[in-house]
Amino acid sequence: MTGGSRGIGAAICRRLAKLGFAVLVNYARSADAAESVVAEIRAEGGIAAAAQGDVGCNEDRQRLLAAALREFGRLDVLVNNAGITSVGRRDILEATEESWDAVLDTNLKGPFFLSQIAAKEMIHLIRAGIIPEGYIINISSISAFAVSTNRGDYCISKSAIGMMTKLFAQRLADERIFVHEVCPGVIESDMTAPVKEKYDRLIAEGLWPIRRWGSPEDVASAVGAIVSGTFSFSTGNCFLVDGGFHVRTL
Ligand code: NAP
Repeated sequence: MTGGSRGIGAAICRRLAKLGFAVLVNYARSADAAESVVAEIRAEGGIAAAAQGDVGCNEDRQRLLAAALREFGRLDVLVNNAGITSVGRRDILEATEESWDAVLDTNLKGPFFLSQIAAKEMIHLIRAGIIPEGYIINISSISAFAVSTNRGDYCISKSAIGMMTKLFAQRLADERIFVHEVCPGVIESDMTAPVKEKYDRLIAEGLWPIRRWGSPEDVASAVGAIVSGTFSFSTGNCFLVDGGFHVRTL
């Protein structure tokens, strides 16, 4: 579980633990937050361990995979959740390469290459009869299809996750590894704290049909349903958790 220390990732960790999965709670910097997610899961009788690692860094990705196998001896699910928004939220005419590199490394390169090494391990585990099937869940965003001209790099990273999901879904279906994208709308977390007032107003005005903020638990419910095998003849899907934002009206 990448980016499990806070927000949406922390909620997914709790949900997976409730479903009986042992959870590796990855974080980049927030060791205390990750340890408290682990403590919460253990207090409920679940199994969890924290693991530091920057998903944008190859060595760290290898280390995370090794930690999951060392701690639990198996890998059934990879959730690519870790993500950052555009640095400085600059208009695309003023956007910087520094922000581009940071956002694309974390939001796209990390998930792609982590999926690659995780999938190879899952194939081995399935063929050895250690796990019955595998799941890779990519946390994308409505920013994959809705334009924000002050977060161009973020939108592009999430749009590319859609194609990445289809590529891995196609490649891995014969191996019994199912790959899906979950597209949250605007969810209350540290990431959206700086734009809280703006969205309070827009939600009240009806920006999407279900007039409330999304919660991290809303996203965790979707991930939980997928990895529970609810969608047994599906792969490469995009599950929208967006309060109906995608519905166009006249
Ligand atoms: P958040 O509250 O800012 O939490 C981000 C998480 O990602 C933290 O656990 C953070 O770890 C981790 N992280 C950041 N960079 C990392 C890196 N390089 N390597 C490993 N972990 C890293 O964000 P959130 O709102 O929960 O968002 C989670 C995901 O949902 C992101 O992919 C985001 O794009 C997507 N999403 C969010 C919304 C929304 O409205 N909030 C909407 C659509 C999609 P540390 O705690 O160590 O920093």
